[in-house]
Amino acid sequence: MSADCIFCKIIAGELPCVKVYEDDDVVAFMDIGPVVKGHTLVVPRTHHENIMTAPAAVLKKVIAVVQKIAQAQENGLKADGVNITQANGKIAGQVVPHIHFHVIPRFTNDGHSWNFPQKKYEGGDEIEKFAQAIRKGMGGGLAQ
Ligand code: AMP
Ligand code: ZN
Repeated sequence: MSADCIFCKIIAGELPCVKVYEDDDVVAFMDIGPVVKGHTLVVPRTHHENIMTAPAAVLKKVIAVVQKIAQAQENGLKADGVNITQANGKIAGQVVPHIHFHVIPRFTNDGHSWNFPQKKYEGGDEIEKFAQAIRKGMGGGLAQ
């Protein structure tokens, strides 16, 4: 637990939340500022700041619950679709530094729209240069 982390406090029961699921490793509760009503957050009980530092074993448990919540939004809320989002770092929009996945139910005419304007790579091999840097960041080539 991290002393000044609001999600650690929620998990410890020191702050209130509207919980929809919990097990030994993962908790899911309603986001108090829903992008679309029904917006749910899924968090590991252990404090990890972001996807870069959370152990893969923890992420596996969290993503299984993300799937459960998405299925429950489809079944229970009759969602027509579901968005899953997750931010790492302030520049990416992360406000609470305890890794969390947003599970957001989507409905026809829910009034929400994602604004992801797409760009283009320069000609030549610019796309390949970006790919090379990512491969190098993994310490090697393509996974087999
Ligand atoms: P992010 O910007 O990805 O860090 O998202 C943080 C999310 O936490 C926001 O969507 C907030 O509405 C939500 N949030 C902050 N405090 C609480 C809280 N006490 N209970 C439920 N959700 C919260
Ligand atoms: Zn925390």
